[in-house]
Order: sequence, then structure tokens, then C-alpha cells
Amino acid sequence: MTGLATAARPHVGSGPRLEVELAAIAQNTRLLAERATGELMAVVKADGFGHGAVDVARTALTNGATRLGVTSLEEAFALRAAGLTAPVLSWLNAVDADYARAAREDVEVAVPSLAHLTAVASAPRTRVHLHVDAGMARDGADPSTWAQLCRSARRAEQRGEIEVVGVMGHLGCADDPADDCNALARTRFAWALETARAAGLRPAHRHLAATSATLTDPRSHHTMSRVGAGLVGIDPSLTTPLRAAMTLTAPIVQVRRVRAGTPVGYAHGYRTPAPTHLGLVPLGYADGLPRLASGRAEVLVRGRRRPLVGRISMDQVVVDLGERPVDLGEPVTVFGPGDAGEPTVAEWAAWADTLEHEIVTGIGGRVPRTVRRPAHLRSLS
Ligand SMILES: *Cc1c(COP(=O)(O)O)cnc(C)c1O
Repeated sequence: MTGLATAARPHVGSGPRLEVELAAIAQNTRLLAERATGELMAVVKADGFGHGAVDVARTALTNGATRLGVTSLEEAFALRAAGLTAPVLSWLNAVDADYARAAREDVEVAVPSLAHLTAVASAPRTRVHLHVDAGMARDGADPSTWAQLCRSARRAEQRGEIEVVGVMGHLGCADDPADDCNALARTRFAWALETARAAGLRPAHRHLAATSATLTDPRSHHTMSRVGAGLVGIDPSLTTPLRAAMTLTAPIVQVRRVRAGTPVGYAHGYRTPAPTHLGLVPLGYADGLPRLASGRAEVLVRGRRRPLVGRISMDQVVVDLGERPVDLGEPVTVFGPGDAGEPTVAEWAAWADTLEHEIVTGIGGRVPRTVRRPAHLRSLS
């Protein structure tokens, strides 16, 4: 093999790498904060959609977001442990979750049922957001239980056990703004707010919209938008250019020349139609490359798209390099923002019959991450 030039080769001597570009998250946050007519909550669940919860949170809070949202209390406690003091809401917990610790660490919790209300009310005084199901039969209180939940919450508030600071819902069809389901959900949410008010509650935060509705439906904004996907460059409504923040690269670790008709990979899932060079890339489905993308996916090698061939294995995948071999150690770009012609996360999602969220949250823990910080975040590390 020829010698390895190191200048433009971040991979020489190293393996796969996931780079997170915080400047992209900063730019997306500013755009979303401008579109939201109310406050912006940065949703950093699932480790900030795989981008690093603390980094995404800090970046969002310095670019227009005023609050943080997560799924579990454990995720909220991790933000506190990292020194973040902004308001944090956690919305999906078991009835026996550690609500006492939530109160101690000043974490707000969503209450979707009377059983949860009882549990939260028996912990020290906690700020809560009552959570109504706006029509997807998933999380949140069933509408048939809502009036009772509001009355019980008001009584707990009068006893000083909780403070109801918010009412929340979630839209099931917002990615398609034309879907009638959105109007129904907005109506149900308006009804839920009236019902809360009639029970004597005065929630300052009333929030229904996530990324898609923040970008497409101001009628759903109320006092706050909760955005996650948009922060990291995913626009499920396909209306707004946002910037992807992740780049996944790996070096070629082996190159071989093969004859026409050479079977490649498990079950000989592919045969080379002509003589070619095959390169081995040390990334597989354990690292988040969906196996379903086998036979469809491409990567960027030396500025050109090349197909992955054979089945994606757990730890490795083969790229058809064509006539010209490349040097050992040369980097392959699996996906990135697309600036250099590399595949995007959206393309990977299409190759795997899934959505971008599943790709970015699925990158495995053994891929080392590097974070590129814009100047205004360097001191925060
Ligand atoms: C994940 C989530 C969000 C963020 O949704 P995006 O479409 O990613 O912006 C908002 N609210 C709730 C309840 C969520 O679970």
C-alpha cells in the first residue's frame, strides 16, 4: 500500500467517528425560536436525539430556547448533574418514579393520570404540567378522565402539594399539516384548557406543538413549542431547510481486488458483476447502520458515491470501490449534511424504510464522538 498522507485524513490511526457540529444546532434553534410565537422548549430526550443531551441543551439555551424537555426523570437528573439550571420538564414516568428527587432537583413533571397525581402529590411540592391525550391514544390522560384530573389537581394545589404550571398535549399527525386530525387535536386541546380553567387552574405554560407544527401551524403554538427533531436538523414536515449536525465517517481497513462473479458477505447476498476492488469499513448494524439498507445504501469515497455491497454485518460492511483502489486508512463518509455530496441521514432513512429520527438515535455507543463547538460555546465544554 502507498503511504498515508495525514493532512486531510482525520482517520489515520483511528476508527469510526461521529462528529457533531454544534453550530448547526445553534442555527436551527435560532430559526425555530423565530418561528415559535411563544417560548421554545428544547427537547433533548434520547441523549439529544443521539447528539449529546448536554451539548444540545447548552447550545439551544444560548440560541433562543428557554426551557428543556426530556422523557424520563433519569434524563432530567443527568442534565442537573451536568450543571444545567434551566427549567426542565420530564413527561413519561412510572407511578413509582422518584418524584421526591424530582422536587429536590427542581424538575417539573407531567401528570397523565390520577394515579400519577397521587404519587406526585405525596412527594414534596412539585411543579406539574397536566398532560392530555389530544387524540393519538398514546400518552396523556384520556379525555374521559380529564375533568376529574383537573379537579383533583386543583384540590392538591389548594392543599399546597403541587403547583399546576402547565397543560400539555401532543399532535399525532402534524407532519402532514393538511390532515384533518390536526384540527381535531387543536379543538380537543382548547377544550382541555377550558376544562382546566373551569376547575380553577391557571397554567402559565400551554403547549401542544413539536417541530412540525412549530414550522407549519401557528394556531397550535399557544405559549410554548417543544422541539427536538428540528434542533438536530430533522424537519418531518419537509417545509424548511434545517442543517444536519451529524457526520459519520470510518476508515477503509482492508482492500482486495476480486474477479467478476465473486460472492460478497453473508449468504453470498451479492455477486460482483465485473472485476472490481472491495473495501472493508468497520461499521455495522451494531453501530446503527440499518441492515435493511443492505443492497441500497451508498457512501462517499474520494468525493464519489460508491455502493455498499453484500449484507450489512454486525460490525462491518463492504464497499465496492470500482476500478481504482484507495489507500488503507482513507476515510469513507457514511452520512453528513450533504455538502460534499455524501449521503444524508434522510437518504439512509429512505434506504431503511424508516425515519431520520431512528437513524440518528441509533448510532451505537462504541462509535467515538467528537463535538465541534462554535466560539460562543467553547468556554462551556
Ligand atoms: C419527542 C417529543 C417532542 C419533540 O418532538 P419533535 O417532533 O422531535 O420536535 C415534543 N413533545 C413530546 C411529548 C415528545 O415526546
